[in-house]
Amino acid sequence: MPFPLPPNATIGIVGGGQLGRMSAMAAARLGYRCHIFTPEPDAPASQVASLTTLADYDDNAALIRFAEAVDIITFEFENVSAEGLDLLAERRPVRPGPDSLRISQDRIAEKTFLNAAGVRTAPWAPVETLAQLRAAIATIGLPAVLKTTRLGYDGKGQALIQSAGEAEIAFTLLNPKPLILEGFVDFACECSVIVARGADGASTAFDTVENRHRDHILDLTLAPAPFDPDLRREAQTLALHIADRLGLIGLMAVEFFVDADGRLLANEIAPRPHNSGHWTIDACPASQFELHIRAVAGLPLPAATRHSDAVMKNLVGPADLALWPEIVATPGLIPHHYGKTAARDGRKLGHVTTLFPHSALPGAFGIAAALGVLAPDAA
Ligand code: AMP
Repeated sequence: MPFPLPPNATIGIVGGGQLGRMSAMAAARLGYRCHIFTPEPDAPASQVASLTTLADYDDNAALIRFAEAVDIITFEFENVSAEGLDLLAERRPVRPGPDSLRISQDRIAEKTFLNAAGVRTAPWAPVETLAQLRAAIATIGLPAVLKTTRLGYDGKGQALIQSAGEAEIAFTLLNPKPLILEGFVDFACECSVIVARGADGASTAFDTVENRHRDHILDLTLAPAPFDPDLRREAQTLALHIADRLGLIGLMAVEFFVDADGRLLANEIAPRPHNSGHWTIDACPASQFELHIRAVAGLPLPAATRHSDAVMKNLVGPADLALWPEIVATPGLIPHHYGKTAARDGRKLGHVTTLFPHSALPGAFGIAAALGVLAPDAA
C-alpha cells in the first residue's frame, strides 16, 4: 500500500475503547475505513467502524487474520504481548513502532529510557525482592510509591508506603513482580503534553495542559495549563525531544509532575491518543485524533494549534451519566458519549468540553459557572 495512505484504505486499530472510537471518527473524516481488534462485543470503537475482529489479545491466529485484512496497524491500547506485536509487525506497518510500545508497557524500561534521554523523573529503583525494597527505601526515602511495572492505570497496581511497616504488606499485595519504587512527589500540579510526529521526523506539540484527578481518575483538563508560559514551553520541548528519541511515528502523551520547586518530572509516556487531549476535538482545527491518523497514514501534519481555550470534564460512572439529559440541554457544554451500555462505577463513559476565547481561561469560579450542572464535582 502506498504512502500517504489513499482514501478508502483500511486502518487497523488494536483496542476498542473510546480512544479507538474517536480515532475511527477522525479517520472517517479523512476517508479511511477502520477495522477494530477487540475482545469486547459492541465495543465503543466497533460501533463507529466498518469491521471488527472480536478476539482476545493473545489469540495469535486472530491477530494474523486481522493484520492481513488491513493496510496499516495502530493502537489505542498498548498492552499487546511482545509475540503478538511481532506477528502484526511481520505482516503490516505498525505505527507507532513496536519499540515505542515496549518502552511504554514497562515502567522500568520507560524510566530507564527517560533518564537516558536526559529527562528528569522521580527517583526510582527496580524491586524484585523484599530485601531490594528495603534497600530502595533506604536510598529513596519515604513516603514512596510502589507500583507494578506493567498493566497499571488510573492508580491501579500501586500502593503508597508511608512507614517501614507498610512496605512488606505493599510488597506482598502487588503482583506480578518485578515492581518499581518511586519517590513520592509532593507535586504542585500534574500536566501533560501531546505530540504528533510523522515518518519524516516532522513533529508538533499541543500546548501543555493541567490535569486534575478525582479518585485517581482524570476529572478535569485545563487547556492551557494556568501556569507560567515558560514552564509550559519547557514541557512541550521535553515532549518533542522524547518523541524524537523514541523515533515515534504517531501520537504520544507525556505526563509530568510539577514539583514544589516548579521543576518538571516526567511520570509516564503513552504512545497513543490520551484522555488529557480530548479537548482538542472542540478547541483545535485538527484534534489529537486527526493528528494521530494523519501521522500513521503519512499525511502532512498541520501545527497543533488551538483556536480556543478549553476545559474538559470526564463523565465517570453512572452518577455522572445520570446528568446526561441536563448536559445535552445546557448551552455551551459540548457533549461526547462513548456508547457504553454497562455503566459501572469508575468507568469513563463520556466527556464534556466547554470553550473560552483564546488566552481567556477563567479561574475556578468561571470554570464552575461554565460547567453548570457538572460544577459541584468540578469546583
Ligand atoms: P500513574 O499510574 O503512574 O500515572 O499514577 C497515577 C496517579 O498516581 C498519578 O497521576 C499521580 O496522581 C499519582 N502518582 C503516581 N506516582 C506518583 C509519585 N511518584 N508521587 C506522587 N504521586 C504519584
